[in-house]
Amino acid sequence: MSTVTEVAPGMTVATSRKMSTNATVVSGRGRALLIDPAWMPDELDALATEIDRRDLTVIGGFATHAHHDHLLWHPRFGDAPRWASAETARLAEAERPALLDALGADFPAGLADLMGRVRATGDTLPPESVPPGVDVELIVHDGHAPGHTAVWLPRQHVLLAGDMLSDIELPLPFAPDDLPSYMAALDLLAPFAAQASVIVPGHGSVGSDALARLDADRRYLDDMIRSGSSDDPRVGLPGMADAHARVRRIARDLRGGDRPQPA
Ligand SMILES: [Zn+2]
Repeated sequence: MSTVTEVAPGMTVATSRKMSTNATVVSGRGRALLIDPAWMPDELDALATEIDRRDLTVIGGFATHAHHDHLLWHPRFGDAPRWASAETARLAEAERPALLDALGADFPAGLADLMGRVRATGDTLPPESVPPGVDVELIVHDGHAPGHTAVWLPRQHVLLAGDMLSDIELPLPFAPDDLPSYMAALDLLAPFAAQASVIVPGHGSVGSDALARLDADRRYLDDMIRSGSSDDPRVGLPGMADAHARVRRIARDLRGGDRPQPA
């Protein structure tokens, strides 16, 4: 089961038992927008039950980026349009075989079939998919994944960061391995993080420390680029050793390789 938390009036986050993946329900006057609903089949079903219990009609979906754990859906959510940035929508289609592989052969075929069925939207969400009383701003960049999108809810001062600003994951500037894009994305997020009362990462804890998380990510990347090492405590968290080694490699390439040490 997911853990459900109300993070702002009408706004709940369901945290999956798998990789603490966060699904967000943004609602207003009986309508709901689902952002990155995830992950396990029973959790998606429970989310549908929760939506029914609150008597909400799903009027739209949004996927922050083209990774399998952010492109999910459930038939009980209905057939409202599901949106993503143009690049995310392109990748969800172009990389469908690999995304299906990543879901695994055990994932129910009906849910696998619904994965990634997103349409491209521009700088904003179409009004028919935005609940009454809610404003949504999309912040599109190429950190973590091409076309990755953070969602800013200016009325609630909530920042949905997608797979960035996590307290349990290091910055993951991979595929393509691209540190400058990641750092540019942090710059783009900074003014929103400065105003955010609530930060919801794609994986990890909901917090009120968006700017501190952003500073920690900058410090980690700066340290890795400068010296190839970091005392960031996330380095020691489960699953982060490979990511850390990969950042070290990319950072070294960015420096132009290690200079010979003076004797
Ligand atoms: Zn993810």
